Formats: sequence, C-alpha cells, structure tokens
Amino acid sequence: MKTITIVGGGLVGSLLAVFLAKRGHNVSVYERRPDPRRTNVYAGRSINLVVSHRGWTALKAAGVHEAVERIVVPVHARMTHDREGNTTRLPYSIDERPIHSVSRGELNKVMLTEAEMFPNVKLHFGQRCAAVDLDHATCVFENEAGEPTTVKADLVFGSDGAPSAVRQEMMKGRFTFSQTFIEHDYKEIAFAPKPDGTPQMDPHCLHIWPRRWFMMMGLANTDGGFTGTLFMPHEGEFSFDTIKDEKDLMRFFGDHFKDAIPMLPDLAEQYFRNPQSNLAIIRCSPWTHKDKVALIGDAAHAIVPFYGEGMNAGYEDCKVLNDILDQHGDDNWGTVLDAYHKARKPNGDAIADLSLRNFVEMRDLVADPQFILRKKIEGRLQARHPDKWLPLYSQVKFSDIGYKAAWDEGLRHDRIMEQVLAMPGIEEKWESEEVEKVALGLLGND
Ligand SMILES: Cc1cc2nc3c(=O)[nH]c(=O)nc-3n(C[C@H](O)[C@H](O)[C@H](O)COP(=O)(O)OP(=O)(O)OC[C@H]3O[C@@H](n4cnc5c(N)ncnc54)[C@H](O)[C@@H]3O)c2cc1C
Repeated sequence: MKTITIVGGGLVGSLLAVFLAKRGHNVSVYERRPDPRRTNVYAGRSINLVVSHRGWTALKAAGVHEAVERIVVPVHARMTHDREGNTTRLPYSIDERPIHSVSRGELNKVMLTEAEMFPNVKLHFGQRCAAVDLDHATCVFENEAGEPTTVKADLVFGSDGAPSAVRQEMMKGRFTFSQTFIEHDYKEIAFAPKPDGTPQMDPHCLHIWPRRWFMMMGLANTDGGFTGTLFMPHEGEFSFDTIKDEKDLMRFFGDHFKDAIPMLPDLAEQYFRNPQSNLAIIRCSPWTHKDKVALIGDAAHAIVPFYGEGMNAGYEDCKVLNDILDQHGDDNWGTVLDAYHKARKPNGDAIADLSLRNFVEMRDLVADPQFILRKKIEGRLQARHPDKWLPLYSQVKFSDIGYKAAWDEGLRHDRIMEQVLAMPGIEEKWESEEVEKVALGLLGND
C-alpha cells in the first residue's frame, strides 16, 4: 500500500481521499484554508452547484452518495424570466429527470467528514503547498505562520484547483499550458426564503434571466433560499464596471431583472459586499509526472461553469482513476497514471468546449424561438427513438458517455438540426412524420 499526499481538500480532493482510502492506501490531505466545518470560509462565495448523473455515478462508486442525497434539491427544469417577469418552464429531459442543486460549502463539509471516517485518512488544514519535488513526491507545506513542513510520500495528487501549486511546479518542465479568461465575471446574490421559510420561486427549477450579453441564474438551497449568480462582462456597456453605486444598480436591475427586485430587499448591500470573481479556462498536458504525481479536477481542467460540470468532471476523474486501478492493480502506478491521462485529457478538453457553448445557450438561446423549437423537435425524436437520438444536453447531464464522444455527437446533431429547421413551414409541421423521417434519414447518412 502507498503513502499518498493529496494537495487540496476541496470537492475533488475529498472524494479522491475516499476512493484511495477504500483501496487501503495511507492518505494525507493538505488544505490551504481552515476547516470549513469550523470556519465560514465560503462567505459570499458559497455558489450552488449542480450534481449531475456522472457526479452521482462517482459518488455511488465511492459509497458516499447517501450523505450527499441529504443536502440536495432536485431540479427538473429551467425557468426563464423575461424582462417583464414572464416565466417559461423548459424541462431538462422528456421524462423530467432531475439534476440536483447543492451548496458547494455544504458538499465540501459532508465530503470531508466522509473522508475523515477512514482511519487511514488524515486531514491537515491551514497548510499551503509551497513547493513540490516531483521526482521524489515530496511537498513543502506552510502553516498560517509561514512555518514549513516537508512531507515525503510515494505519490502526490494535485487537487488544488485552478491556481494549482502542483501544476506550477510541473510547468517548470516540459509542460503545455494555456489559461484563457473570458470577459465575464460573476458575483453571488442570495435570495432569502420568505419569512415563513418557504421559497420565493419554484425550487425545482434552475431560474435564468437570460439577457444576451449577461445573465443571472438562481439555484435552490435546502433552507428555502436560492443562491443567485450574476454573470456579466467586467467592462463595457452592460458590465460590472458601469455599476458604481446604488442608483446605478437599482436602475440596472429595474431595466433587466425587474421581477427579482422584490425578492432581494438587501440587493445593494449584497452587491457591494460580495466579491466579483473572474472565470478562466485552463488546459494543460501532461497531467502526470512519471509514477509520482498527477493532477485531478480543476487543477487539470478548469472550465467555465455554464454546463455545471466542473465538479462532475472532477468526480468522474476520480471514478475513472479508481476503475483503472481495478484493472492494473495498486502497484503499477506508472501504467495507471499514464492510462488515467490518456482516458481523461480528451474529455477534459471536450467539456471545456461544451461549457463555453452552453454559455451562449443559457444567456442567449433559451430565449430564442428557433432554439425552443429545436428542443421540442429533439425531445420528440428522443421520445420516439430513444435508441437513436439522445440530445447533447442529456448525453452530458444524464449519461456516462464520455464528454468527447458526446461533443462529437452533438456537432453531428447540429448539422442535422440546421437542415431540419430550414424545412419550409417547420413551425407548423414540427410534430409530423415527415420531419421525423428527414431527421432520422440525415442521422443515418451523416
Ligand atoms: C460560479 C460557479 C458555478 C459552478 N457551478 C458548477 C456546477 O453547477 N456543477 C459543477 O459540477 N461544477 C460547477 N462549478 C465548478 C466547480 O466549482 C469546480 O469544478 C470544483 O470546485 C472543482 O473542484 P476541485 O476540488 O478540483 O477544486 P476546488 O474546489 O477549487 O478545490 C481546490 C482546493 O485546493 C485548495 N488549495 C488551493 N491551493 C492550495 C495550495 N497551494 N495548498 C493547499 N491547498 C490548496 C483550495 O483551498 C481548495 O479547497 C462552478 C464553478 C463556479 C465558479
């Protein structure tokens, strides 16, 4: 059995600790921040996450799904809010299968507790990884007073998120890396429950206010509240930069998110208190160093949050690694890490592309009649031919199909649906046999 250091006790590091502990390894997790179960490290950055099918697959494989099930809210549909406050409900799938909303902070706490139940897992908080000797799987951690501790192990996993210190060390060698900031930043705005504790909106919908260049979304919490997130360019006509004071803010919300104002009595206080954070896509390669070090989760593939898949992808990394260990055993780490990188890197790249695409869909297309028509046609095809047509969204959110395969199939669907939507009179005949035949014919020939 190996001695394994996990750098970063966030969402992915804590699940990885469970997987590796179950295999009998001695696991030490070093986390930069204080223990979130004792200090509110998530204030103003709590963020609600969507756990989707592949996230659940990994949680089940690790045997920790029941603990997570207790803190989620099922979400069956998108609810769009237009400028006048009119709402439209768009189910995520034809059978109303839910995705699940969870508070990042609560999930992290639950998962740390699950990891800590194993006697062969040790959690260390307030320990920042300052240096890594990759060849010798040795890390230097500094506590809050800057005092160093050197920790030697057989293997190191870098699950230390987008700013990964482990990755920084790998970048000193032959390593390919890109970091792309998008023009949009985000800020959290919480919707409190009503005084009687009930929610102000339907908790089983993901609420979206799509406004083309910017958008707000809201996901339910178990306490009846919602965590809202405002995504906007950091500069330009409609941007965080243009909102300087309460007057600007109220005018902006009055113009674009009118129906949200009565639900946010403390809007100005929250807006000017909560941090504005940026969003970047990180791609890198290789994710591993010999049989000693591997990156996992956001450290390997930070993506924009618009498919709600960053954590799910990281969870799937853990599950795939565990499957590869089942195949090759726990003494063959060179082969295992190599197979892990080969299996996951193309999928990491694909979910980065998919997530950018879904940004356009969320902020823009969900309010577009052509897009809504396409969703209806695809829903009908899926209902009548589930073996032939699984829409891209369902492949990503409700299946274990690799992201790369889903992306390729999604692009094929785009080509087909472009031709279907160009059929004369499609608005009237979208439910006809003729349309179905054309779509399936194109599917066979593409
Ligand atoms: C607005 C927003 C919405 C999102 N929505 C979703 C969603 O709906 N669904 C979804 O699946 N994903 C979502 N994500 C993405 C998700 O949050 C990330 O993919 C996920 O948190 C990645 O987990 P991780 O453990 O790899 O990294 P992190 O969660 O970033 O954890 C890394 C940990 O490492 C620690 N650390 C960092 N540096 C060091 C160091 N030097 N030494 C020691 N410890 C260190 C950090 O303190 C942290 O605890 C969203 C992200 C954002 C920003």
